[in-house]
Amino acid sequence: MPWIKTEDCVGCGVCVSECPVQAIAMNEDVAQIDDQACIRCGKCHDICPQEAVRHDSERIPLEVEANVQWTKDLLRHFKSAEEQQGLVERMKRYFAKERKVAEQSIARLDGLLREIG
Ligand code: SF4
Ligand code: SF4
Repeated sequence: MPWIKTEDCVGCGVCVSECPVQAIAMNEDVAQIDDQACIRCGKCHDICPQEAVRHDSERIPLEVEANVQWTKDLLRHFKSAEEQQGLVERMKRYFAKERKVAEQSIARLDGLLREIG
């Protein structure tokens, strides 16, 4: 899933006009991708003159930080150390479930590749 590194976008609009499904719009002179509309063709990444459209993998540290922050924000709802530890363990189980979903999805997609090829 491509994403816009907003501080690098100069608002030229090239990606908006080149996107085949109109999934990009300008918001206060910064391009914004509609994740639901995007068909993951990669065209915006290839044509952006500022290299402001970035690959998924570059977002990993940001997403990890967001997940940790999410957990920290939830901690304030729990008073005792025991309750807070319980929350952190539940969040760990949640992310472990997400990992399994990703692993099993990748395995299924490998099967799909074999069917196509
Ligand atoms: S092509 Fe790049 S710099 Fe231009 S609007 Fe799109 S993301 Fe921003
Ligand atoms: S990857 Fe393709 S469909 Fe998605 S926003 Fe970029 S140009 Fe549009």
